[in-house]
Amino acid sequence: MHFDAIIAGAGIIGSSIAWRLAQAKLRVLLLDSGEMGGEASSAGAGMLAPGGELESWSDWSHFALHSLRLYPEFVAELTSETGCTIDYQRFGAVELAFTDDESASLKTRREMQESLGIVSLELARRELHALLPDLRAEVAAAAFYPDDALVDPRHIMHALRAACLARCVTIREHEAVIAIRTQPGLVRFEMRDGVVEAPIAVLAAGAWSSLIQVDGLTLPHSFPVRGHLMAWQLEPDSLRPIVRHGHTYLLQRAEGFTIAGTSSEHMGFDRELDPAILGDIHHRAAGLLPRLAVRIPDKQWLGFRPAIDGDAPAVGRVSDTALWLAYGHYRNGILMAPATAERVANEITSSLETGSSAPTGSR
Ligand SMILES: Cc1cc2nc3c(=O)[nH]c(=O)nc-3n(C[C@H](O)[C@H](O)[C@H](O)COP(=O)(O)OP(=O)(O)OC[C@H]3O[C@@H](n4cnc5c(N)ncnc54)[C@H](O)[C@@H]3O)c2cc1C
Repeated sequence: MHFDAIIAGAGIIGSSIAWRLAQAKLRVLLLDSGEMGGEASSAGAGMLAPGGELESWSDWSHFALHSLRLYPEFVAELTSETGCTIDYQRFGAVELAFTDDESASLKTRREMQESLGIVSLELARRELHALLPDLRAEVAAAAFYPDDALVDPRHIMHALRAACLARCVTIREHEAVIAIRTQPGLVRFEMRDGVVEAPIAVLAAGAWSSLIQVDGLTLPHSFPVRGHLMAWQLEPDSLRPIVRHGHTYLLQRAEGFTIAGTSSEHMGFDRELDPAILGDIHHRAAGLLPRLAVRIPDKQWLGFRPAIDGDAPAVGRVSDTALWLAYGHYRNGILMAPATAERVANEITSSLETGSSAPTGSR
């Protein structure tokens, strides 16, 4: 079968690109060494939270904010194409400070974020208590980020599968790409049992991207940063909005599933849950919401954030080739998926329209 574009990696990034390219009438082959959405894209908490992530100006902070603005339409379009339900909620986030030092850094952070256009409001104790009555009482300061949102990435992946299939994307799971070879106007993917080639290709294999050999090219190095999460089934609507304190957060999905995170470990692809790390997350979560102290978590899991050398994901065409990169979204791949898919799909479709093989630069 002939394909216009082949994509290695069916996480939220590769699958969103596949969907956008299929909407543009390209015949797309989407390959995954495991299952579609089976890695970071199902493990992620799903905070769409520039307020918790961005402090200073960069092209990428603007890209992330642009992606946040694309989310309502991204979700609405996926829902209308597939009929799938997507838990997407825009109820904001509260950032807490418990000491004078933390209050001072929160104030500085909010001032820096203001120049990025990130809105935050100082919350008085009374207002915080009205919003989150179950929270630990002795808070020194709190800021409310009204634009931060939340999505269930498993719902997005479910909808992306349906949207891709409806638009005739060929999805092949359990097919690992071992090597990529580029020639003028052609990219070849080598798998254990064969070869596929197409005029356009995308490398979107998340943390595994650098394990795929790409001949003759030095690409940005990707690596995994492991993160643990845990969750409790609580009564729905009992925790609104998202609560954050440093690297600890609590968020609740629509059906009451309440997630606490997180950790960061440089452990390669070790899939063994670490009880000490989980104990620490439980302790920190109960430090915010005391009633969790006596509750045994209903679920615990981990995932591999796709980190990359440098401070920005690799998104764009590799000079002088027909290969695009879309990996290295680290802690914000769920957030940045709509903007990444938009950028990569637009670049690819305009390169096909102009018949251009001219480099547009990578990263
Ligand atoms: C604990 C945790 C919490 C997170 N919380 C958030 C959050 O709140 N908000 C947010 O925006 N982001 C969050 N993230 C980050 C987010 O999950 C990732 O940035 C995003 O999922 C990356 O998507 P991806 O498609 O690049 O990677 P992945 O979802 O990992 O997909 C890559 C795919 O490539 C496949 N693959 C690997 N090797 C090959 C090969 N050789 N050939 C073919 N396919 C291959 C894999 O099987 C996988 O399916 C979190 C991540 C973790 C781990």
